[in-house]
Amino acid sequence: MAMSDAQGSPPQLAELELGTLDCVHCGLCLSHCPTYRVTGRETSSPRGRVYLMRGVAEGRIPLGAAVAEEASLCLGCRACETACPSGVQFGSLLEQTRAAVSDAGLRSGLAARLERLALRQLVPRGLRLHVFVAALAWVQRLRLDRLALLLLPPRFREIHALLPPVPPVSQRRPLPRSFPARGEPRGRVALFEGCLMPELFGAVNRATAEVLSQQGFEVVVPAGQGCCGALQAHSGDLEFAKGLARSNVAALAPAIEGDAIDAVVVNSAGCGAVLRELDHWLGDEALPLAGRVRDVCEFLDEVGLRGPLEPLPLRVAYDDPCHLVHAQGVQEAPRRLLEAIPGLEIVSHEDPSACCGAAGTYNLTQPEMSRAVLTAKMDALASVAPDVIASGNPGCLMQLRAGAAERGLGARVLHPIQLLAQSLAR
Ligand code: SF4
Ligand code: SF4
Repeated sequence: MAMSDAQGSPPQLAELELGTLDCVHCGLCLSHCPTYRVTGRETSSPRGRVYLMRGVAEGRIPLGAAVAEEASLCLGCRACETACPSGVQFGSLLEQTRAAVSDAGLRSGLAARLERLALRQLVPRGLRLHVFVAALAWVQRLRLDRLALLLLPPRFREIHALLPPVPPVSQRRPLPRSFPARGEPRGRVALFEGCLMPELFGAVNRATAEVLSQQGFEVVVPAGQGCCGALQAHSGDLEFAKGLARSNVAALAPAIEGDAIDAVVVNSAGCGAVLRELDHWLGDEALPLAGRVRDVCEFLDEVGLRGPLEPLPLRVAYDDPCHLVHAQGVQEAPRRLLEAIPGLEIVSHEDPSACCGAAGTYNLTQPEMSRAVLTAKMDALASVAPDVIASGNPGCLMQLRAGAAERGLGARVLHPIQLLAQSLAR
């Protein structure tokens, strides 16, 4: 491992020490950690990473290339948090460590600069992203991407395989600002749209709004909301992510004021995890929003589905998004909803709450580890031969879709809300 350590401890690291003290080195997290399972290295385990973080915070270990490498190799899946009996808040420790690594100039290569450019100047800028995706649609339609692949290095083929076909324009149109409650009214909710969801998974956002409306909830889609900041925070750009979070707090405040809504409903696990923990970034000003965030499956499970549900004779493998099961503690609600659909059979594959290897931009920045983690996931899924693989996060949907296509599995990859919408709409 190359060592070119930068000396000194930036201020963020002072906050690390307290969190790392919770670790009692029991090792119960090790077998749950995907990177430890692949490498067998203590330094690539949660315990090893906490040790490194604490060493950096106490000034015993320099903040340098070795720490940067382990912070980057971690998936941020937070499976270690679920496993940890001492309550180590690994996600938060990792976020602070990555920010410190970034501020120390330890992520300075071309790939890191391009990532930051895309995450600051493209992903959170709605109009630019819309134009970019529209251009990508034309590139795909004219098959120019296949032509370009002949000229570009193999690495780009892997990135290309992850890109889903851009959905038709009809699915990328902005949602109406409100959907009426149908039937006996049951309440009012706000829908959080996200940044990539409207462009690449518009059908999921539409299905979410339509199911909630059909279930008797008026749905408002507040203007001015945008990117949640998850991808930026995962890449170490924490202050920029906090700026995005402040914009969302301001955009959603009018809907939340005066208890005008029952919940802010989110269908992307990554966004939901960030919004739910916004007070960690912004303090008390974010509590009114953070306290109302519900994953769409969690919300529908809490209020109870109003039938009738038509049969869907499908074998479905439900795969837990890490940021739903480990960061938000939502595990049974999506399964209960799917089980309520007549004719639908949930087939159990091995370790459904293990990471698929998507992890934000991880599949682009750490392709080898991402591929190793995805291979294990696809082995488990292939063994139960599902008709549908269901998961509630855009990154997981893209990663699982790419994995299924490469494996030659005929399974469709869908968000659970799309199956519910199908069953309710007949
Ligand atoms: S977040 Fe995931 S990859 Fe990182 S240490 Fe924890 S279990 Fe391992
Ligand atoms: S389970 Fe928790 S306390 Fe035990 S080694 Fe892992 S992080 Fe430390």
